[in-house]
Order: sequence, then C-alpha cells, then structure tokens
Amino acid sequence: MAEQSPVAYVSSRRIGDATVTVINDGIIPIPVASVFPPPEAALIRAGGEVDANDRLNSGQMVIHIGIGDASILIDPAYDDPGSAWNDHFATIWPGLTRTPGMEAGLASIGVRPEAITHILITHAHDDHFAGVVAERGGRNAVRFPNARHLIGRADWEGNPRRDMPERDLSARLGAVAKRGLLDLVDGDQEVVPGVAMIHAPGETPGHSIIRLDSAGARFYALGDLFHHPSEIGHLNWASPWVDLPTMRASRDRFLAEAGPTDATIVFTHEHFPAWGHIVATDRGYRWERT
Ligand SMILES: [Zn+2]
Repeated sequence: MAEQSPVAYVSSRRIGDATVTVINDGIIPIPVASVFPPPEAALIRAGGEVDANDRLNSGQMVIHIGIGDASILIDPAYDDPGSAWNDHFATIWPGLTRTPGMEAGLASIGVRPEAITHILITHAHDDHFAGVVAERGGRNAVRFPNARHLIGRADWEGNPRRDMPERDLSARLGAVAKRGLLDLVDGDQEVVPGVAMIHAPGETPGHSIIRLDSAGARFYALGDLFHHPSEIGHLNWASPWVDLPTMRASRDRFLAEAGPTDATIVFTHEHFPAWGHIVATDRGYRWERT
C-alpha cells in the first residue's frame, strides 16, 4: 500500500522490511524534439505526454532507503532552492520548477544529513550528484559528512571534467573525494545486505542501477537506464548522447532479471511519485504506473 506524506513531493512505501522514499527535487521542461528524433517525438506527442509548449516535464527523483542500520540516499540531485548553484542551473533549464528540495524532503521523514550512511550515485551527470555538497558561507561543504559516497569507477577515473574546476564533478564530487569519502565501484557490488549497485553502462560508462531485496520483495532504482516510459516499450529509443548498443545490452540484462515481475521500480526522470513496474505485452514490455 502506498503511504502519501503530507507534502506533494515525498512518497514512501514499504518494500519488505525496508522503507523506500521518493523525493522529487524539481521539474525540468525539456523540448521533446531535443531528446527524441522526429518519429519518436511524434508518437510521444500522440500519447499525450507533452505540454502545450511541446515539452516533456521531467521529474528528478532522489530515493532514500532505510534498511536495518543503513540510511541510504540514491542520487542527491540538486543544491538547495535559493542557492547560487540553483540560480545557475535555472539559466541552463528555463522553466525549472523546484520543490522544497531534497534536504526538506529528508527532514519530512525524520532523516538528518548526518545520519546518512551511504550515498549511491548512479552516474556522473550533474543533476544526479550536485547535492553532495551544500553552499555554506560561499563555500561548498560536504552535505553528508558521515556517508560513504559510491560511484562506478569508469565515471570518475579518466573523466575529463575532474580537471575542469568550474564543473560540478570537480567542484562538488571533488570536495567529497578530498574528504576521503568517495569509493569507486567495479562491476556489481553489494553495499549492505540486500542492497546492490549493478553496473548498467550506456548513459555513461560507469552508470549503475540499484537493487533492493528485502523479505521477498524487490525494488529497483534505475537512474537513467530509461529516461521516459516510452523507452521501455521501444528499447532502441534513447537520448542523443547515449551509447546505444551498450545501453541496449544493459536494458536487456535488466529486463531478463526484472521484467515482468512484481518488482517496484523508479527511474529518475519519471513524473512524481514515479512508482511503477514492467508489464509484458505481445511485442515486448511497457511501463505501468503503480
Ligand atoms: Zn538524468
């Protein structure tokens, strides 16, 4: 059963003995023509998924898992509303709408940043990790000082943005690394019993998805393995920057394991509250919001 919290950007569910919470950090209107070729964009328009300005309204789900003694946060998306980072980000994405934000959402479920034990970063795109630091007195302060921060090795080592001081990878995840809090993940890795990072490259070389198993129930946080529900029905649809053959292999591997099952699934840019699962069709799969 879904439990809706009093604020409209936070939603929690029990998955076995774990509690999983989705926090929407904001909504970005993205012109559909900028992320899908014309035939795909036409089908998405026909499906009623775009607004009056021909834009997809892309959510930004941050996910908290409470299981045993672990307090795990997946993809700390943005810095706080009102931060200089936010003001700059809003110039890149006109029409950006912020919710009260990740830290307010965590507070609403009684979780302080200091209590977070693990930060799992699906990949090294800014919108999935910028919130690892918070602007405090004009400086970037590590937001989760007691957490190990995990990311796929291939998204950190050799990433040219590490050498660009103005980029978030250097300025923000770099601040975490300087504090000795960054761990690089190779392949698939168990984080705590029942929670694993699974290598699923394509969006980036080190992209990972997260699987939770608890008391017979299963949950996946997919990051950007899919950006939009249409990609689940059309497995060769992807954004222009994606390494499609690699992405397709990761999607096939995931679907062989998880779809269709009763597993509860969230992908980052789905509309809030983003809960869903994979359903079989006569031609493959489709997304069903739950
Ligand atoms: Zn993304």
